[in-house]
Amino acid sequence: MAGNHSFLPGEFSVRMERLLGPEEAEAFFRSFEEPRTYGLRLNTAKISPEEFERIVPFPVCKIPWMENGYFYNPEDRPGKCPLYFAGLYYLQDPGAMTPLSRLLIKEGDLVCDLCAAPGGKATAAGARLGPEALLIANDVSSSRAKILLRNIELAGIQNAFVTNEQPSRLAERWAGCFDCVILDAPCSGEGMFRKEESLASDWSVEKTQRLVPIQRELLLCAVDLLRMGGSLLYSTCTYNPGEDEEAIAWLLKERPEMIVKEVSPYEGFSQGLEGDTGNSQVRKCVRVYPHKMQAEGHFFAVLEKKAEISSRVQPGTEGSEWTLEAGTKKQGEAKNRKSKKGGKTKNREHDPEKLILSFFSEMGIERIGNCAWKPDQIEIREDKAYYIPKASREGKLALSPGLRFLRHGLLLGEIKKDRFEPEETLALALRKGECRERITFGVSDERLLKYLRGEPVFLEEKDFPEGKPPKSGWKLLCVEEYPLAFGKLVGNQLKNKLPLSWRQV
Ligand code: SAM
Repeated sequence: MAGNHSFLPGEFSVRMERLLGPEEAEAFFRSFEEPRTYGLRLNTAKISPEEFERIVPFPVCKIPWMENGYFYNPEDRPGKCPLYFAGLYYLQDPGAMTPLSRLLIKEGDLVCDLCAAPGGKATAAGARLGPEALLIANDVSSSRAKILLRNIELAGIQNAFVTNEQPSRLAERWAGCFDCVILDAPCSGEGMFRKEESLASDWSVEKTQRLVPIQRELLLCAVDLLRMGGSLLYSTCTYNPGEDEEAIAWLLKERPEMIVKEVSPYEGFSQGLEGDTGNSQVRKCVRVYPHKMQAEGHFFAVLEKKAEISSRVQPGTEGSEWTLEAGTKKQGEAKNRKSKKGGKTKNREHDPEKLILSFFSEMGIERIGNCAWKPDQIEIREDKAYYIPKASREGKLALSPGLRFLRHGLLLGEIKKDRFEPEETLALALRKGECRERITFGVSDERLLKYLRGEPVFLEEKDFPEGKPPKSGWKLLCVEEYPLAFGKLVGNQLKNKLPLSWRQV
C-alpha cells in the first residue's frame, strides 16, 4: 500500500489507512498509480451543452455527476482552443467543480465567495446569476485577486464586485446580507497530492494544524455574512478530518443556528466521517475520493442558517461612501456619471455617454449578457466606462468605505477624445448574437489564433455571407458566432485591437 508510493508522507498514509480501513485504503493508495483526471466546466451562461458538443473540436466525455462538466484528454490542450478564449469553459479538476454543483443558487441571489482566487467556484456561481444578482468575489492575496479578475472577465460576468480584502472586513460591513456564501478554504491540499506531488513533500502534521484556526475564523466570517435562510458552501481539497468534519462540527456548536443540509446524491460520493465529533449531522458532508470517482480529492458541506441567534457583528448599515483604488468617492458621486479627474470635472467636447450610445447603436448592441442594457447603469470613472450592476445601483448591497477592490461591474471601454474604444471585457460579456456587426470564423480557422496572438487577419470571400465585404469600422470577431474580441475592419483587413494584456504568446 503506502510503501508503493514513497512520495506520500508516512503520517498521512497511516491516517488514511485508519480512516478508510485496510480494504478501502488499499483501493485509495492504488488510485495513485492511475493518471490524474482532467475536466472542463462549461460556462452555461454563454453556451448550452448541446451546442458545445456540436462545435468542440476535440473529444470530450460528460462527467456523470455534473450537468455541465466534461472530461478531456490533456494532449488536446483545450487551454489553447479559441473556445477557451471566448470564455466558453473553465479548466477545473472534476473534484473541484463538484461542490458548487450541489449549492442551490437562485438567479437573483447576492453571493459572496470569500476565498475566490483563481475563480473556479466564483465563475461557476457567476454563470448561474441573472441581471438582478450580485457576486462579491474576494481574495486576500492581491496577486491572486488579479488572476481572479481575469477569470471573471473571461467568463463574461458583468455583475461582480471583485475585492482584495481580509474576510473579516467584509463580514463587518455586510453582516446578514448574503443569500449564499462560498468558503473554499485554504487547506493542506491532500486531495491534490496525485495532481502535484510537490504538495506531498511540503506537507506536515504541524502545517495542517496551523490551518485549523484560520479555517474556523473564516467559517465565522462566512456565517456572519449570511442572511437568515441563506446557504453556506464550505469546501476544502483535503482529507484531513481536522480541516473538514471537525471544522463543521465545531461550527455547529459555535453557531447553533447552522444546520448541515443533504445534497443531491451521487453513487461515488462518500459520506462525512462522524469520528469523535459527536455530531451525526456531519455525515451529510461529502467526501470525494479518487478511488471512488474519476476526480481528485475534495470535501464539502452545504449548511443553512436557520435563525439569527448570534452574530459577532452588527448587520450591515447603508454605506454612504466607498473607496476606489484610484481615489475616493463620497456620497452621491456614484450617481453622478460625469467624468472626473483630480477631483475636477473634465472639460470634454464630446459627451462620453453619447459616444458610448452611438457606438452601441452602430454595432447593433441592444443586450449585454442576455439582458437589455440600460444607459443609466453606465458610469464614467477617469476615462473608463463601466456598466454598474443593477443590484449595487439600487443599493441592495451598500458598498462601504475603504474596501480594496479591483473591479466593480463590467469595464465597457475607454473614452478617447472624440471616440469610444471598446474593451475586450465588453466583447467577452456579450452573448451569441448580441452584436450585429460581427465577423465569424469556424473554430478550426487558424486566423483566430493569429488574431489572439495580436496579428491582423484578412477576410476572404467565403467570410462574406452577403457576397460583398462588410463596411469598414468596428467589428466583433466571433468563433462559431461566440464573441471573442473587437477589431477594426479596413477593406478586407481586420486590424488587431486586442489589448496587449489579452494577447496569447
Ligand atoms: N475557490 C478557489 C477556486 O475555486 O478557484 C480556490 C481557493 S484556494 C483553495 C484558497 C484561497 O484562500 C487562496 O486563493 C488564498 O489566497 C486564500 N487565502 C489564504 N489564506 C487566507 C486567509 N487567511 N484568509 C482569507 N483567504 C485566504
